[in-house]
Amino acid sequence: MGLHRYFVHQSLSPGRTYLPPEEAHHALRVRRESVGDRCVLFDGLGNEAPAVIVSTTKRDCEVEVESIRFAPRDLPGRFTLGVSLPKGDRLRAVVEKAVELGVHELVPLLTERSVKIPTDNSIEKLQRFVIEACKQCERNRLMEIKTPIDFEAWLARVAQDKVSTNPGFQIIAHPDLADHRISMKQLLLSNSSLQPQHGFAAIGPEGGFTDEEVLKAVSYNWKVIDLGSRILRVETAVASLSTLAAVLFDDKQSTSGQTIIAGNLQ
Ligand code: SAM
Repeated sequence: MGLHRYFVHQSLSPGRTYLPPEEAHHALRVRRESVGDRCVLFDGLGNEAPAVIVSTTKRDCEVEVESIRFAPRDLPGRFTLGVSLPKGDRLRAVVEKAVELGVHELVPLLTERSVKIPTDNSIEKLQRFVIEACKQCERNRLMEIKTPIDFEAWLARVAQDKVSTNPGFQIIAHPDLADHRISMKQLLLSNSSLQPQHGFAAIGPEGGFTDEEVLKAVSYNWKVIDLGSRILRVETAVASLSTLAAVLFDDKQSTSGQTIIAGNLQ
C-alpha cells in the first residue's frame, strides 16, 4: 500500500510546513502518524510532494517537503461528465467512480425526471468526496464540481464551447430509442483515428432522460450510446462511460508525464 496522502490547499514548496488542521487531525488521530513517518502531500492542482513528519503536538503536524513533481493523473484529454445525480449514499459512489476514472469536471444536470436538486450544502459534500477519492486513488488534480444546470441550457453551452475545442465527442447514454443508438464498439471504431481534446457525456436520472431530451441532444449532434442489454444504475453508468472515455483518450499508467519541479524524484 502507498503512503498516506494529505491535501494542502496551498502551493507546495520545499522545506517545512504544517498540515492544515483537518488533515493534521486525520494524520495524528486517525492514521496515528508520528515523527519520522513518511507521507505525500498534494495540492489539488496536479502537484504532489513526498514529505516526512518532523514534529507533532496534540493538534499540529509539521512536515518537511522533500521534492515536488507535477503528476495530475487525470485523463490526458479533457472529459466533462453531466449527470442527473442520485440521492443519498449513491452520490458518493458517483463521485468516487468519476474521480478514479479521471473525469475532469462533473456537471450536476437538472432534467425533467431529476429527483434531486443539488443545494450549496450537497455541492460542498461532493467536493469533500472528491478530495477523499483523490487521496485513495493517488490522483493529484481535483475533479471540478460545476454549478448545477438545466440539461437543455447545458447542451446549448457545450455547442458554443465545442467550436474552440474540436476534435472531441459528445455522447448521451440512453437505453431507449433503438433507431438512434450506437453500440460502444461502434463508437470506438468511429473514433479510432481521433485524438480527442475534449469529450462530453451525459447520464440521466433513475427514471431516465425523456425521449424529447435525447432528441434535443441528437439535434446538437450528440451520439446516443447503448451501454449494453442491462439497465445500469447511475453510478454504474458513470463508471462505464468514463471507462469508454479513457479508451477514447488512450489513457495509460505512465510516469513519463511527471515533471520534477523541485528536488529529486523519489
Ligand atoms: N428506466 C430508465 C430509462 O429507461 O432510461 C433507466 C434509467 S438508468 C437507471 C439511469 C441512466 O443510466 C439512464 O438515463 C442512462 O443515461 C444510463 N443507462 C443505464 N443503463 C443504460 C444502458 N443499458 N444503455 C444506455 N444508457 C444506460
